[in-house]
Amino acid sequence: MKKEAASFTSTRNACKLCAPLGASVAWYGIEGCVPLIHGSQGCSTYIRRYCISHFREPMDVASSNFTESSAIFGGEKNLRAAIENVARQYAPVSIGVATTCLTETIGDDVARYVSEYERDRLASGGGGPVVFHASTPSYRGTHMDGFHAAVLAAVRRLAVRKPDDASRPAGADRQTGAGRVNLFPGFVSSEDLRELREILDSFGLSYAMIPDYSETLDGESWETFRKLPGGGTPVAAVASAGSAAASLCLYSDSFGDAEAASFLSGEFGVPARYVGMPIGVRNTDALFAALGVASGSAMPAKWGAARGRLVDAYIDGHKYCFGKRAVVYGEEDFVLALASFLDEIGVVPALAVTGAKSPRFAERLREATPNCRVEPFVSDDADFATALERARELDIDLVVGNSKGYYVARNLGVPLVRCGFPVHDRMGGQRILHLGYRGTLSLFDKVCNALMEDRQASAKSGYTYI
Ligand code: SF4
Repeated sequence: MKKEAASFTSTRNACKLCAPLGASVAWYGIEGCVPLIHGSQGCSTYIRRYCISHFREPMDVASSNFTESSAIFGGEKNLRAAIENVARQYAPVSIGVATTCLTETIGDDVARYVSEYERDRLASGGGGPVVFHASTPSYRGTHMDGFHAAVLAAVRRLAVRKPDDASRPAGADRQTGAGRVNLFPGFVSSEDLRELREILDSFGLSYAMIPDYSETLDGESWETFRKLPGGGTPVAAVASAGSAAASLCLYSDSFGDAEAASFLSGEFGVPARYVGMPIGVRNTDALFAALGVASGSAMPAKWGAARGRLVDAYIDGHKYCFGKRAVVYGEEDFVLALASFLDEIGVVPALAVTGAKSPRFAERLREATPNCRVEPFVSDDADFATALERARELDIDLVVGNSKGYYVARNLGVPLVRCGFPVHDRMGGQRILHLGYRGTLSLFDKVCNALMEDRQASAKSGYTYI
């Protein structure tokens, strides 16, 4: 596997998004939570604009509204005022405070501000929202780091051990395979979250999916305005995460102790299983196997049929995609899952790009693409300008990823299969189904159709049968 050497010290069109953006999306998946960005208004405006153009839903993101003086003297007063304003105006169950590049750079001690605020609130009689805090400087990570930091902050603040747990050794009844599970889906689409719920429900499992923004960020139209959308993981469900039989994570273990399942494992003895993102037959089989163990039940027949239809489609569409070469990009776990899927259908992921810094990205990509007969180029901590330069040399047929890669596809003159986040130049980004057998089938159709459409459009004669 060839590893891209860094040749630029500046970033040109980053292949990642801002960390508090990921935190805001995650907190929208906790019932009654309002994200509050501790920094200047521009940060929260950017996050709102970016998320609304993808989810097409109202998304309030509060700001502590930094000015020049708060940047010099610190933002404690601003943060207190912001928390009190949000509590008064929205009456939320919780407020998630995410820091920004500015507040991290000046060294604001936000953990202390929050704990002193909560202490004072308790001293004056309690009540009001619970406040989470996540440290999310964008210069240190991506939106995925922000997303996991936010989920961790909520779980760390709310999860409790069952009262009778104290008398049992950690993990004593957790090896039986029975019992409630925590499902940590990672940053996926609203449609994916609904699909996951259907899958887990079909196994008869009791579970807490953390977070769940399937309704808050893709809900119904309202007769009257609501300050906060309905839906989200109930606070009681997050609280129960500490007494679950296991945590299933639809991402890799590359976040270490910076994500919630690892915390629950260390603090409460809840075993964590990192299944990866279930895209493709191989990866989805791994999820269903894990659910079989967790529930003690066989895979329901409807998923066997869905798997069969997917394999049948692979056979039918093989001639359209075999041997094609793709650029795939986005967050690390998503790229690994897409590369694995492309590898299954005979498409070579010739260039795999992520904006995250990940020393194990190349190794993981190799493991995810066992059928690949050419060495893909892999590039972590990368930007789209570098991706385009490299892609020009690789005889690419297809680009797969979010809307930010449009100009790569346009410059290469090849189709773009839009998926992931953000999709803000098409309708329905929040409703793209990526996961499971049905999501993979939908992606497979998209890949084949993009290649067929391109072939049809570039043919001299307008034929209709391909
Ligand atoms: S300044 Fe930092 S936190 Fe604010 S929008 Fe830009 S990258 Fe995000």
